[in-house]
Amino acid sequence: MFGQMMDYPLTISTIIDHGYATFPKKEVITYMPDGSIHRYTIADLYRRSKRLSHALVHKLGVRRGDFVGTFAWNHYMHLELYFGVPGAGAICHTINIRLASSQTEFIINNAEDACIFIDANLVQLLEPIATKLATVRSYIIMGAPENFATTLPNVIYYEDLIRDSPEDLAWESVGENEACGMCYTSGTTGLPKGVLYSHRSTCLHAIIAGLPNCCGISSADRVLVIVPQFHVMAWGLPYAAILAGSTMVMPSCLLQAEPLINMIIRENINKAGGVPTIWQNVYSMLRKNNIKTLPLKEFLVGGAAVPPNLIENFEKEFGITVIHAWGMTETSPLGAVCRLQPEHEKLSAEEKLRIQSLQGQKPPLTELRIVTEKGEIAPRDGKTVGEIEIRGAWIINSYFKTSSRENFSADGWFKTGDVGTINPEGYLQITDRAKDLIKSGGEWISSVSLEVTIMAHPLIREAAVIAIPDEVWSERPLAAVVLRDQNEPVSAHELRVFLSGSFAKYQLPDKFVFVGEIPKTSVGKFDKKKLRQLFAEGKL
Ligand code: ADP
Repeated sequence: MFGQMMDYPLTISTIIDHGYATFPKKEVITYMPDGSIHRYTIADLYRRSKRLSHALVHKLGVRRGDFVGTFAWNHYMHLELYFGVPGAGAICHTINIRLASSQTEFIINNAEDACIFIDANLVQLLEPIATKLATVRSYIIMGAPENFATTLPNVIYYEDLIRDSPEDLAWESVGENEACGMCYTSGTTGLPKGVLYSHRSTCLHAIIAGLPNCCGISSADRVLVIVPQFHVMAWGLPYAAILAGSTMVMPSCLLQAEPLINMIIRENINKAGGVPTIWQNVYSMLRKNNIKTLPLKEFLVGGAAVPPNLIENFEKEFGITVIHAWGMTETSPLGAVCRLQPEHEKLSAEEKLRIQSLQGQKPPLTELRIVTEKGEIAPRDGKTVGEIEIRGAWIINSYFKTSSRENFSADGWFKTGDVGTINPEGYLQITDRAKDLIKSGGEWISSVSLEVTIMAHPLIREAAVIAIPDEVWSERPLAAVVLRDQNEPVSAHELRVFLSGSFAKYQLPDKFVFVGEIPKTSVGKFDKKKLRQLFAEGKL
């Protein structure tokens, strides 16, 4: 038929081709585990990704549709895998390095990874289970020091693998709906489940993520990618950054506040992304070291609810805008991003903060709705609570190797398992995860709201709220809290008084338990399953 546009597949290779054609001299900088700094350009990244692609096919026998595992920190070689693996028509399976070994074993066997690219400083995590990983033909070691030794079988060194491979190969021609990447959910609420990302979903996500209303990155920006590459493809930031031509800085395993602050200052970082705990630690360290200014202009924070005082403190003390975002492995992850709109500028600081603490508005090419307990679609009134459902161009359609439709509505939306509201302006607020909800005397109590408010207390560092069984009310909230400083205690009574300004009396936790640390999941979130277990065993 005449009068049509080209059918131009949206593939990962178009992202790196664009980076190479348009921003070849832009830098990709890695702060390596040994303290050295590795610098090269997008042109180098492009060429080495091509060599890697060639080596995958011709040296490792990787075929189209094969799974190639990565077990690594954030660095330039891991970026080469982000492009080289899909460029060979294979699927880049980023394995979470922080899971229990039984889960890691399950994931690798479930994915049937053909080979695994692994950081030299992480081999000890796979060595004990290597004999059980039947499909893995070889282990490719990245960043090996001189005296490196491992019991892993069939070892190849990364640089040896790609050294003699040509850099002029043509990318494998794949269909845009073929898979390019895979992540497993971190198993907070059950066994990890595989989520496959397609070339098309990843490209569209990267384009939209870069928009000013979303992560807002351009060739003028210098972005620090703190969120791990094994966690929802680093929120898609590497792909978005290459499309936008941003300078990218990768921290490898140097994720403590001090080295991160050092990178931000030395590399003149103006944008970044990481989970709330990272930013809490950065804030405490800035205070401790009496650092008054940072080049950072704004940062993205998500993966767990952000305490409003964190947003306020960064804004007031450092002039840094905190961009709250919501998403999950199944949503690639962008599901909502919170930015103030121009009409909000006239609001008071307090009113602005209230908006900035929400999880935000949906990005283009996605849709959000709230479905109540009765199965009705809730009005966008900011009050009616229900499960959040989402659909769109980068939202999961089914889990890997499972036919279960348990997480999908009859009309094909993904049921997130998160609970919340949407206000008339389209801002989403997460009040809980369905599995963490507290139902007391027929009323829902939001554990997330309690947590972020308790963490706003100046003497409290962390707070996680769980439901505990109660004979009269069926469930009551219990708050596990961590003091900022053991020498500055605060009583349960003081905390209750502090909360009473924001919550009804029945919503206040019955018990406050002071603990040294809140157990965390593999991606640094409060592990409420573990907390509930500790409580049940009488160990809290
Ligand atoms: P897992 O599902 O295994 O915990 P994910 O990283 O995919 O791993 O986590 C997604 C979940 O994290 C969401 O379903 C939600 O409960 C929580 N989450 C993500 N971002 C936010 C946020 N900004 N506020 C509150 N909760 C969030």
